[in-house]
Parts: sequence; C-alpha cells; structure tokens
Amino acid sequence: MYERNDKISLLHPVLVAKVNNMLSELKHSGLPFAVFETWRSPSNQQAVFDAGNSKAKAWRSWHQYGLAVDFVARPLVGSRHVWSWSPDHDWQTLGKIGIRHGLRWGGNFQSIVDMPHFELPCPKSIYEAEALVKTDGVLALWDLI
Ligand SMILES: [Zn+2]
Repeated sequence: MYERNDKISLLHPVLVAKVNNMLSELKHSGLPFAVFETWRSPSNQQAVFDAGNSKAKAWRSWHQYGLAVDFVARPLVGSRHVWSWSPDHDWQTLGKIGIRHGLRWGGNFQSIVDMPHFELPCPKSIYEAEALVKTDGVLALWDLI
C-alpha cells in the first residue's frame, strides 16, 4: 500500500530550511502552494514506476534520499482548499522561488517536465548515492552536502 509522506522533517536539514523559506515566501506572496510529498520509500517508488506514473524505478529518484520534494497547488474552491495539479496555477513563479533558494526545478528537466518537483543538488550521482546509502546509511550521504 502506498503511504505518502509529507513531513518536511524527513528531508535533509538544508532542504528543510529551504522548503520552510519557500513556504513563508509563498504565503507572503499569496501563492497557494503546499508540500505534497517528501521522502518516498524505494518500494513506493517501484510502485509508482510499475503503475507507469514515474520513469524512475526504486532508488532512481532523489525522493529516496531525502533530497527531493513535491509541491501541490491548494486553490480555494468554495470554502475549502483543494489539491490541484492544473497547469493554470503559477508553477513558473513557484519554480523561480525554488531556484532562487538553490534548488533544481523539475519544470526545467529535459527528460520529463515535472513542475511540482524540486531537488537539493547532490555532489554524487544517483548510482553512487545508492551504493553509499546501502553500505553506510543515508547520513553518510547527507554529510557530503
Ligand atoms: Zn518529485
């Protein structure tokens, strides 16, 4: 069963600070975006791959390393905020804010445009990261950032 994590505290501390800064900036600007997903387990990643909803298999997404975060638009419909991935929302401004905080934005990806997605740059390739995390744990990877 897929269990979505939206806890910011599951992310690398540097990314936690950046996401919190983004959220206060978004609030200040009146842009209704929220955090949708943070850490994603390898088995959850494999599940979204198997369902055809991601190009990345287990261990091939930075979500498995606490280095990626997905946002969602939270427009007010009637009296309540709903989740929305409509392209009508101001994803471009969201992207600019994330980039200004030093993140890589999925809206600029060449392979598959992923506007809700942001990553903290890692000095290791995802293959090196997988090997390191499997032998020494995620903190060994986090120490490099
Ligand atoms: Zn993502």
